[in-house]
Amino acid sequence: MVRVRFAPSPTGPLHIGGVRTALYNYLFAKKQGGDLILRIEDTDSQRFVPGAEEYIIEAFNWLGITFDEGPHIGGKYGPYRQSERKSIYKEYVDRLLEKGLAYIAFDTPEELEAKRNEIPNFQYDASTRILMKNSLTLSEKETADWIDAGKQYVVRIKIEPDQSIVVNDVIRGAVTVNSSILDDKVLYKSSDQLPTYHLANIVDDHLMEITHVIRGEEWLPSAPLHVTLYNYFGWTDTMPQFAHLPLLLKPEGNGKLSKRDGDRLGFPVFPLQWQDPKTGEISSGYREKGYLPDAIINFLALLGWNPGDDREILSLEDMIALFSLEKCSKSGAKFDYKKGEWFNHQYIQLKSNEEIAGLWLDSCHCGLDPQSHEHTVMQEIAGQARNDKVLMDTIIKIVGLVKDRVTYVKDLWEQSSFFFVAPETYDEKTVKKRWKEDSAAQLTELSAVLESVEDFTAKPTEDIVIPWIESKGYSMGNVMNAFRLALVGESKGPHIFDITEILGKKEVIKRIESAINQIPVA
Ligand code: GLU
Repeated sequence: MVRVRFAPSPTGPLHIGGVRTALYNYLFAKKQGGDLILRIEDTDSQRFVPGAEEYIIEAFNWLGITFDEGPHIGGKYGPYRQSERKSIYKEYVDRLLEKGLAYIAFDTPEELEAKRNEIPNFQYDASTRILMKNSLTLSEKETADWIDAGKQYVVRIKIEPDQSIVVNDVIRGAVTVNSSILDDKVLYKSSDQLPTYHLANIVDDHLMEITHVIRGEEWLPSAPLHVTLYNYFGWTDTMPQFAHLPLLLKPEGNGKLSKRDGDRLGFPVFPLQWQDPKTGEISSGYREKGYLPDAIINFLALLGWNPGDDREILSLEDMIALFSLEKCSKSGAKFDYKKGEWFNHQYIQLKSNEEIAGLWLDSCHCGLDPQSHEHTVMQEIAGQARNDKVLMDTIIKIVGLVKDRVTYVKDLWEQSSFFFVAPETYDEKTVKKRWKEDSAAQLTELSAVLESVEDFTAKPTEDIVIPWIESKGYSMGNVMNAFRLALVGESKGPHIFDITEILGKKEVIKRIESAINQIPVA
């Protein structure tokens, strides 16, 4: 039975790279019919940030990545917060101490600093531990006395030098390192009676019967230590398979993606907006920016994995069916945020107009200045539409007419506001270019023609207006451009007779009149 985990440390908002890691764990678990566990690695109280865990859970709820066990849903391997598992770890530290695979070290931060200054590239290991204050250099009695006297200590792993350590990685194959490059990492601190990340991580993976550790490449350097810990505990047979995912790179490809890249180029690196509880600083999120969760999922899935062909639009079910760790790449994936925008555009097209209209009305405030008149109008419309089926149907139609022009749902307003609010001013450039000497006269005549149209839907109206223009010998372009300017206020918008159908006869004639009255003849 496959069991995988996503194990974030609640030190701030979840980075988009973390979301991808969780997604790959999710896809792998679902593909294998296994379970995905959320484990909160909060043993480092110095770095704990309030609200981070809630943020993480909310982000996954929004994205539709579900867990089978975790602090928010329970499970039979709990608790799932390491801070609630404190009492578990000491026993495992003691086991290593008893077997002589770890030792107690009393060196103060000042003493360590002094050694670092004295020995270039100092690392606490087989060649230096004999120079330090630890249970290997002190007598058993001294060690016991110091502990009894309340002297603070740490427990360090005892790494044997010059051994080959092999990390079997599903994506990278066998990665071999010489143990001499490793230091005797701290596993436990008496000061807070807490294990460090490394020990807690391994013990929990073991106790929670994790079968595969799928995580970011930044953890690859820790993997030899983790393998050593498994071996020291005698858990070699149940050691999980490792899979270290490729880094997410800057859009230009030179180096690791950072928050600064997002700030520089204008894209979020967090799933949800985050406000730093200390500084109050706000970082933008994909949700608030107007992304659809399934577009983000699709975008992220392809950053480091591909289904084996060049398909790009994949449903979650497709991804689950096609996912394999073997198809993950070793080399970093450029974070092409423009591609993310493209996915969002595609997903807006894929969804029904009804669904997009619903999303739009729910988030009508999004993107508009809350102080603005437009914001008030949009909110009124949204409120009305909920009880007015005719209005709702109109809005759904409007969405269908303009959605191929938007990247985000909130852009719908910019593309369609003229349906709701008549133009008060007319775009100067368009007026110069499109409003001819005879435009006013032609539109006055057109107005009369429109008045006579009985069925004001698009096709019948078009079938009357076009032959009329032809019969008069007017320039089709001139009439239509001036007509559009009168209805929209500028030269954008969908097919003109789709616009007239939605506005209705009365409104169309009114707008023509206003334009004639307001636009000065050149
Ligand atoms: N707590 C680590 C993190 O923040 C977990 C790394 C791992 O998956 O082992 O990413």
